[in-house]
Amino acid sequence: MKLTSINPYDGSVVGEVTVTPGDQVPGVVSKARSAQPAWGAMSLSERRDALRPLGQLIEDRADEFARLITLEMGKPIKEARGEVTATVGRLDHELDAIVEALSPEQLDDGTTRSTIYHDPFGVCACITPWNFPLMMPHWLVLPALMAGNAVVLKPSEESPIVAQRYVEVLQSLLPPEVLQVVHGKDDQGKALVASDVDLICFTGSRETGKHIMAAASSGLKRVILELGSKDPLIVLEDADVKAAARFAAGNSFRNAGQVCVSTERVYVPESIVEPFMDELLKASAEVTVGNGLDEGTGLGPMVNARQRDHVLKQVDEAIADGAVVAYGHTGHHDNFVMPTVLTAVTHSMDIARTETFGPVACVITVKDEDEAVRLANDSDFGLGAVVYGEPDHASRVARRLNAGMIGVNKSVGGACGAPWVGARQSGYGYHASRDGHRQFCQPRVVSLAK
Ligand code: NAD
Repeated sequence: MKLTSINPYDGSVVGEVTVTPGDQVPGVVSKARSAQPAWGAMSLSERRDALRPLGQLIEDRADEFARLITLEMGKPIKEARGEVTATVGRLDHELDAIVEALSPEQLDDGTTRSTIYHDPFGVCACITPWNFPLMMPHWLVLPALMAGNAVVLKPSEESPIVAQRYVEVLQSLLPPEVLQVVHGKDDQGKALVASDVDLICFTGSRETGKHIMAAASSGLKRVILELGSKDPLIVLEDADVKAAARFAAGNSFRNAGQVCVSTERVYVPESIVEPFMDELLKASAEVTVGNGLDEGTGLGPMVNARQRDHVLKQVDEAIADGAVVAYGHTGHHDNFVMPTVLTAVTHSMDIARTETFGPVACVITVKDEDEAVRLANDSDFGLGAVVYGEPDHASRVARRLNAGMIGVNKSVGGACGAPWVGARQSGYGYHASRDGHRQFCQPRVVSLAK
C-alpha cells in the first residue's frame, strides 16, 4: 500500500512512500535490536565522526529539502530554508555537546569512587509531527543515535517524503538497520509503541501524547513527550509597544500559526491597548498570503482541510460567544485561513484554552500585570511564554509564569545548550541541553570502595 503526500496549496501529488504494514513493525524493531549492539559498542567519538558529514550532505541539498518542505506542508519557502539551516547549521557544535554530555563522569566522596556511564537504552522509537518536517525528526533521531541506540522513525503521514530523504542521507553514514523508517498513520505509530522498543521519543499533540504514555505504561517503557501548547504573550505598560505588536503578528502568523510555540493568547493592559492594536492591525495587513513557493509569500495554506476546519470552527465559535473580529476572517479559501485578529476573547471560550495551531491572534485586554499573569497561567499547557517590557521588569514577570521556556522581548528559544522543555501538559521529559541529551541514555553507576 502507498501513502501519497499531497501539496496543500493545490492538491497536487508531491510523491509517495510505501506504508509499512502494522504486522511488519515488530520485525523492523527486531532488526534494529540486532543492529544496535555493534553501534552501541562504538565510542562516542566514533559515532560523532560517523555522523559528522550529515551537515554538509544536507546543506549540499538545502534547496531540494527546502522546496520539499514547502511542497509537502505549505510553509513559505523562506521559512523552509530557515528550517534547513536551523536543523544542521550548528551540527558540529551539537555533536560535540552530545559527546561532552554523555562522557563518563567520576564522583569521589572520600570513601567511594563512582563512575557514571551514559549507556544506550537499546531501541528507540521516534514519532514526529509535520510542522517542521526536517527539524522534528532530526531533533529526536540525532541524540538517540549518538547515545548508541538503534532508531526506528515514524514520521508524520503529512510529510513522509522529507523524512524519507533525511533518513536516506543518514543511512548512507550508518551501518545497516541502525536507522529504519516506518511509514503510515496512527496505526503504524501505535504498532511501534506496542512493539519491543525501550524508549519512545514523541513530538506531537497532547492527545496523542496521552495515548502513548498510557500504551507505554504496561511495559514501563521510557517516554520523552514534547507536546502542544497555548502560549501567552504578556505586554507590560513599559514595553516597546510597536515591537511587541510586531512580535505578536509575526509569532501568530509564522508557518500559518502551526508552530508549537506560536503566540496564541495576547494580554495587553487597557492603557496601551489602542496603540498596540493599531500596530498589530498594520502588521497583519502586511502579510502576503499565497503559494509558499513564491518568494514574497508570508503565509501559506494550512497543512490540510482538517486543520483548516478546526481553526475556522474555533474562530466561529468564539465570535458566536462574543469575540470581535478586529482584522481578517474573510476570504478564507481552499486550505487557506486568512490572518485573523480577534479581541474581546475570554477564557470561557475554547479558543483561549485549546490549541488553535492557525494564523489567529487573540487579544485579551487586562487591568494590570497581575491579571495578565493570572490569565497567562490559567492553562493546562506550558510550553513557552513571552513577556515584552522593560528588561528587568519583564524578567521578574517571566519568573511568575508557569511555562518551560520564557522569552523576554524575544521568542522563547534559549541560548545554545539550553533545553527545549515544556511545563505541565506540554511535555514529559525533554531534549537538547546536557540533561536533555542524557534522557536518551540509561545511566549506570559502577562504584569502588576507596
Ligand atoms: P499528532 O499528535 O496528530 O501526530 C504526531 C505523530 O504521531 C504522527 O506521526 C502521527 O502519525 C503519530 N500518531 C498519531 N496517533 C498516534 C498514536 N495513538 N500512537 C502513536 N503515534 C501516533 O500531531 P501533529 O498534528 O502531527 O502535530 C502537531 C502537534 O505537534 C501540535 O500539537 C504541536 O503543538 C505539536 N508540536 C510540539 C512540539 C514541541 O516541541 N513541543 C514541536 C512541534 C509540534
